[in-house]
Amino acid sequence: FSKFKEGLSKTRDSFMDKVEAVFTRRKIDEEFFEELEEQLIMADVGVQTATILIEQLRVEVKKRKLTDAAELKPVLQEKLAEMMGADMSALTMNPDGLTVVLIVGVNGVGKTTTIGKLAHKYKSEGKKVILAAGDTFRAGAIEQLDIWGQRVGVDVIKHQAGSDPAAVVFDGVQAAKARKADLLIVDTAGRLHNKTNLMDELNKIYRVVKREIPDAPHEVLLVLDATTGQNALQQAKIFGEATGVTGLVLTKLDGTAKGGIVVAIRQQMQIPVKFVGLGEKMDDLQEFDPEAFVEALFS
Ligand code: GDP
Repeated sequence: FSKFKEGLSKTRDSFMDKVEAVFTRRKIDEEFFEELEEQLIMADVGVQTATILIEQLRVEVKKRKLTDAAELKPVLQEKLAEMMGADMSALTMNPDGLTVVLIVGVNGVGKTTTIGKLAHKYKSEGKKVILAAGDTFRAGAIEQLDIWGQRVGVDVIKHQAGSDPAAVVFDGVQAAKARKADLLIVDTAGRLHNKTNLMDELNKIYRVVKREIPDAPHEVLLVLDATTGQNALQQAKIFGEATGVTGLVLTKLDGTAKGGIVVAIRQQMQIPVKFVGLGEKMDDLQEFDPEAFVEALFS
């Protein structure tokens, strides 16, 4: 919880302070609802989600016969919490053997960093972790992953830049089996400007993994940059349609005042947020806890 609170300080300072100001010393009237809606949209909760929240608050005002705006603040917290759901969702691990996780997302969102953080987390929990450098398009991506592998102390399976990503993934699976690894995390390329190729490539990787281990991949995590706000939501929709995404990772939540995007994504996507990135360091990754998230926003 305290990590969330720290990581969300920008969102809390700029967004929640303004939202809270709307609630202070006033009656509930049309102007109040308009101001509140505006502040919610500014925090990147999104128009659709803000509208739903305001409608829900109107209903509660009638039902509970509220007149003072201050009384409505806990109701907003309640509604946000409902919208976020209560389920804590860590990685789905294969109970009898190797777990394979594909990491997808557009370049620059924090994929490599997230893989490093995940490797660190699961290694610290006593798991044997192997990484596969499936983003063969950028030499830099292979190098970066290698650096993270050394930093965390896990093996990285890699080929030369330009080679077939599916071949790297195949080798990754073989190495993970041979070395009796618990977790194989696969990096993938993220050039969204060539959407069809990208999706074909991801699907090919998916098929290779499945051919080797029929119930894999156990997770496909889509990494999104929270600082890009509504763009992140767009990416979630594009990747969600194409690659069977099972969970989301929202990075750079520490660097944005627009933490409301988490609410929008939760409300508009049927995919759970599994982790959030709250900094650049190895242990700046938190399992996402919706209740703690909302509480941290309001405290
Ligand atoms: P990739 O291209 O998707 O693999 O992105 P990288 O992992 O290389 O990350 C891009 C930049 O974002 C790097 O400078 C990272 O240090 C930074 N970054 C990644 N995750 C976070 C995070 O949660 N918080 C902050 N503040 N920076 C992050």
